[in-house]
Amino acid sequence: MKFPKELKAYCPYCKSHQVHKAKASSKGRPRSMAEGNRAHARSLTGHGSKRAGEKTVKKQGKRSKLTLQCNKCKKKQERVVGGRTTKKMEFK
Ligand SMILES: [Zn+2]
Repeated sequence: MKFPKELKAYCPYCKSHQVHKAKASSKGRPRSMAEGNRAHARSLTGHGSKRAGEKTVKKQGKRSKLTLQCNKCKKKQERVVGGRTTKKMEFK
């Protein structure tokens, strides 16, 4: 999927459309000590049975996110692009 490096988008801080710089968002480091992760680890102890979060079918594509940086106020926003795609995002 091709995407422009710069685009005009709405900036909620400037409350108007501004030129934004586009970059692919990177996934942050997971927090192993977060409440939900600890609860999930607790549920995995014991024997058998189905557990939430265990996947049997793997999805083919991934939803990609863009980080838009406003050229005026330098604040960042995220935007989800399209649906699930198997191709990587390209900037031109
Ligand atoms: Zn702005």
